[in-house]
Amino acid sequence: MTGITAFVFSDEYMKYQFGPTHPMQPIRLKLTFDLLKRIGAFGEKARHYVPAPAREEEIRLVHSKDYVDFVKRASSVGGVMLDRGDTPAVKGIYEGASSVVGGSICCAKLLAEKEVAHAFNPGGGLHHAKEGSASGFCVFNDVAIATRVLQKKGFERIVILDVDGHHGDGTQEIFYSEPILKISMHRSGVFFFPGSGFVDEIGKGEGEGYSVNIPLPPGTDDDSYLYAFEQVAVPLIRAYRPQIILNQFGVDGHYEDPLVGLSLTTRTFGSVASAVHDLAHEFCEGKYLLFGGGGYDPENTARCWALVFLTVSEAASREEISRLSDTYRPPKSDEVAETVQRTIAEVKKVVFPYHGIPP
Ligand SMILES: [Zn+2]
Ligand SMILES: [Zn+2]
Repeated sequence: MTGITAFVFSDEYMKYQFGPTHPMQPIRLKLTFDLLKRIGAFGEKARHYVPAPAREEEIRLVHSKDYVDFVKRASSVGGVMLDRGDTPAVKGIYEGASSVVGGSICCAKLLAEKEVAHAFNPGGGLHHAKEGSASGFCVFNDVAIATRVLQKKGFERIVILDVDGHHGDGTQEIFYSEPILKISMHRSGVFFFPGSGFVDEIGKGEGEGYSVNIPLPPGTDDDSYLYAFEQVAVPLIRAYRPQIILNQFGVDGHYEDPLVGLSLTTRTFGSVASAVHDLAHEFCEGKYLLFGGGGYDPENTARCWALVFLTVSEAASREEISRLSDTYRPPKSDEVAETVQRTIAEVKKVVFPYHGIPP
């Protein structure tokens, strides 16, 4: 459909790095940009925007002063840990984190001002960061900050769909008492980071019924994943009638990802992007904000994100998109399919009544 899609990327994102042996390498962001350029994506339908870094008062929309000061101090000296061991403070990490947060704010503003229809910040999606702490390679929660920016611009019905292989625990915690519809599909937290995201975490107070968790067993394949997405995410988004859809689009659920252990291919990523894109046009005049997130094989991650971006922007031919697609089909298991079906039945029972949907 019509409308420009923004690809928001700055070379400053390369400063969001935790050292040469850390699993999360910012080169994957540059590889995504380079791949899209090589395909010739930028032109009439897609545009590249260079964001300014987030200002401290923007970061403070979500994070406490103590925590922001702590990150600044740690960033100026380097060599300390921001959390219990996954997220080291290398020198300059504050500047790096501010630059990727700035990308998500840029996306939110471009959409709110209707300058573009869709926007993607591959450097964002840092969904584990909490109000007062870093976690799981995430210093500042840009998804939550972009949400606060949109609320200040008058948006009320906001969906945050999180398809990363890990539970979006920081985002959930920050908005746990607010009626922002948060849907997270992730590998089950039994013996897996961050150890949360179970069906019974549904929110509290005004947020009760608005945290939706779909924990998936290791080995979950495209068919089971898309079943869960179509059975739960789609009807909830329709019932909620959002004004804008935010989508943390971590691709570490890919079958070759070294950290997660789900068995997804580009079929899942393309189908989800395409379906959410359609919902955004149906309910939100197109407003669809995509973030990056996990993805620990740099080449695969770039390929998956390019495919997602081209699916949403329609800035390349179908042939070009299918050249980016996986041809391998990971093995399927009946046990996985049955577990996912049981989980879906449970999620519907627990959450659908809050939204007037028959389970
Ligand atoms: Zn569109
Ligand atoms: Zn992840």
